[in-house]
Amino acid sequence: MPTVFEAVRNEFGPELPLLHDGHHRMTPIQAATLGKALEPYDLFWLEDCTPAENQDAFRLVRQHTTTPLAVGEVFNTVFDFQTLIREQLIDYVRAASTHFGGISPLKKVMDYAAQYQIKSGFHGPTDVSPVGLAAQTHLGLAIHNFGIQEYMEPSEKTNTVFEQSMTFADGYLHPGEKPGLGVELNEEAAASFPYQQAYLPYNRLADGTVHDW
Ligand SMILES: [Mg+2]
Repeated sequence: MPTVFEAVRNEFGPELPLLHDGHHRMTPIQAATLGKALEPYDLFWLEDCTPAENQDAFRLVRQHTTTPLAVGEVFNTVFDFQTLIREQLIDYVRAASTHFGGISPLKKVMDYAAQYQIKSGFHGPTDVSPVGLAAQTHLGLAIHNFGIQEYMEPSEKTNTVFEQSMTFADGYLHPGEKPGLGVELNEEAAASFPYQQAYLPYNRLADGTVHDW
């Protein structure tokens, strides 16, 4: 990975923000080694470098690198962030309103994070739904420690079912002018897309063991 980032920096210069997602795949010492090796390339953040359920692991990573760390897309409560924030082991909160209990708990964790200059970087793939993304966008506008908002373009089907006032242009989300979250569920449109069971991809090690992906 360091050779990839070296090539990207050489090609695009120092201004382009670069983010890397480790998807919980590294051991703590591997994560620390990578963070240290990436320091010359000035990452915006290194995300989920190692599973954060074991908060001691982040003490180890933090002691070894100044690469900014982002964590929390699999977290479900404010208490998951308690140690990571109090000990300033992370730089960005990656929680999503959809998985975190909504706007109120997300606001609580961001107010706590603000005391330590830790910013938001809410999880924003399409599975948080346009409702979740709208909630996070509004919250991002309301807090003083907004950092960045992840965004993934919804499919045409999704946009048919969820009528949104939110817009995305030139890297910026705008919540639009409609009241509330600005998202209306079109139940008639939803009925034309019957439920189909589906699974997220899963990852196996060479010996077949199921592993974080
Ligand atoms: Mg991620």
